[in-house]
Amino acid sequence: MMSEAVFIDTLAGRARLARTNRRTLAISVLPDGSLELVAPLDTSEAEILRRVEKRNLWITKQRRRFSEWEAEKTPRRYVTGATHRYLGRQYRLRIQVGAATGLVLRGGFLDITVRSRADEEVKRVLEEWYRRRAAMQFQKRLERWKEWCSHRGLPIPTLRVRIMAKRWGSARPDGTILLNPELVRAASTCIDYVIAHEVCHLKYPNHGPRFRNLLQSLCPDHAKLKARLEQMD
Ligand SMILES: [Zn+2]
Repeated sequence: MMSEAVFIDTLAGRARLARTNRRTLAISVLPDGSLELVAPLDTSEAEILRRVEKRNLWITKQRRRFSEWEAEKTPRRYVTGATHRYLGRQYRLRIQVGAATGLVLRGGFLDITVRSRADEEVKRVLEEWYRRRAAMQFQKRLERWKEWCSHRGLPIPTLRVRIMAKRWGSARPDGTILLNPELVRAASTCIDYVIAHEVCHLKYPNHGPRFRNLLQSLCPDHAKLKARLEQMD
């Protein structure tokens, strides 16, 4: 018989713990990333925490596997309660029907007003909003580089927002910086990294050692931020 489950705080986060007359501790990561433990009746909580700590790397890997799978398999949803990212934070959609379409960020919610709840309509209004926000956020951040570029005799960067299938940004020799509107879903530090990367291309078109040195000096955290972007769901 299994005892009623309790929740305990482990190194890997909150876990659901049940006890049964089994002989070993079972650790499972569920598809939503939550942690489930089934322990023998006589195992102390300290011992359970130690065992979870030892499996922490495995737990992290399982969670990553599930979230990658999730990112591949689950298309974005356009119903009330669905989550969408903006500047690295997750917001929940709250849909209401009204005469005038619009979208307001309120607390943790994206409050959207649409003429009908049809997925297509919600998606259209949401994507329009993302595109406007992307242009605004990118422009504000790119602005900071104009003086830097002009001091170095580089072309003054000008922004173009464009959907690209496989990249966050690109730079042209005339100073045009193309940025993917999807990038506005990422944390602002990640956006700044992509912009710094593209601005470096105004000086060095390829990714050679001089490019890397320049990027390193302008954005010391670039490797970490790049990894974070790649993991973004
Ligand atoms: Zn590049």
